[in-house]
Amino acid sequence: MKQSRIHPQAAGILAAVVLLAFAGGAVAQQTSKPELLDRVAWGAKPPLPGMRPHKPYSIIVHHTAVRQNPKTSLAMKLRGLQNFSQSQRKMSDGRSLPPWPDLPYHYYIGADGTIGEGRDVNFAGDTNTNYDTTGHVQVVLEGNFEIEQPTAEQIEALKKVLVWQAARWMVPISTITVHRDHAGTACPGKHLAALMPSILRELDPNYQPSSVKKKPRKKSE
Ligand SMILES: [Zn+2]
Repeated sequence: MKQSRIHPQAAGILAAVVLLAFAGGAVAQQTSKPELLDRVAWGAKPPLPGMRPHKPYSIIVHHTAVRQNPKTSLAMKLRGLQNFSQSQRKMSDGRSLPPWPDLPYHYYIGADGTIGEGRDVNFAGDTNTNYDTTGHVQVVLEGNFEIEQPTAEQIEALKKVLVWQAARWMVPISTITVHRDHAGTACPGKHLAALMPSILRELDPNYQPSSVKKKPRKKSE
């Protein structure tokens, strides 16, 4: 599979930099596909039946809620997450939950900043929390950011994934959210949540932190 290979030192000045005009303003970003470990490369199994096709219109950021483990390869982590997802899932609180068809997330950013391809982005993700995953691109960073910090490499990779996916699905940067904006959860952890406004402002100088808040819902919803 062809991947865009860009020398890190050249990344900032390549012609691939285009001018993106979003509703909130204009900002120069590289919108091409970042180098990533695709499903073939990490040895993914096919999804199980039950995948739900969707058209993304938004992006949600998560943490894995498990401490970073730089000693295990990303391929092994992704295979492990897929195996867990596709099995009867034993939760830490004792619940046993039915299998998901595939990994719950579309993109997984390892502690070293390597990006892995998760579930096919054309199908809705999955969650143990209570919100509809339809239409959301699910991006997860390895780590428990309640108790540790994302690495600098992860933040750089996150920016690449967000810019790429935002351009691909015409998602305004100002509408990018984190899991806890949608459901009762600490995800993506206080340390990553605190960094999100500055990350998004870097991607769109007109970004306003207040715009990331969940829109008020009607009582009937
Ligand atoms: Zn989450």
